[in-house]
Amino acid sequence: QPCVGVLALQGDVREHVASLRAAGVRTMTVRRESELATVDGLVIPGGESTTMSRLLDTFDLLEPLRKRLAGGMPAYGSCAGMILLANEVLDGREDQHQLGALDITVRRNAFGRQVDSFEEDLAFTGIDDGPVHAVFIRAPWVESARGDVEVLAAVPDTAAAGPAAGRIVAVRQGAVLATAFHPELTGDGRVHRLFADIVRAAVSEDAA
Ligand code: GLN
Repeated sequence: QPCVGVLALQGDVREHVASLRAAGVRTMTVRRESELATVDGLVIPGGESTTMSRLLDTFDLLEPLRKRLAGGMPAYGSCAGMILLANEVLDGREDQHQLGALDITVRRNAFGRQVDSFEEDLAFTGIDDGPVHAVFIRAPWVESARGDVEVLAAVPDTAAAGPAAGRIVAVRQGAVLATAFHPELTGDGRVHRLFADIVRAAVSEDAA
């Protein structure tokens, strides 16, 4: 089985490790460049993107991570992880780093400051056996997606969704996957299984 790392600078690392194990891959936490060098894919957890961005500097991981992403390493970011993977962020801090692995613009804390969390059942391309129950916590949404970015899920266009109606909340570009919500918190293993399949496919392509 491939080994999927979880970036462990900050955020809900344990929950991702558990979800990945349930998806049948080996896992390890990643805090150093030497650890990053050994993984076949990486999860960037939910948490606080500005804090994680600062810690990438502290741990000298920013350039090594950009290099591995540019080299095609599969990655999955949830919430703050989606923000970091994007190449543009709105309502971010000026000194916040972008990893530039997804050709999207995200808006931080997009669901509004009053509404800290929001839940919705979403149709998700590639997960065909029923909707994904999505939990959003001070979540971003994808303001725009460009190039060959595939939209996998959007908030349904209902009155109850308010200004979030129709907003893009899950995307994929090649081997890079991102969700504005937190499947690692709901016990629904399907998004992590999808990512595990992406990593397995990338590993067997490398071996071929
Ligand atoms: N609001 C956070 C940020 O901007 C993301 C929240 C989360 O990951 N649950 O990084």
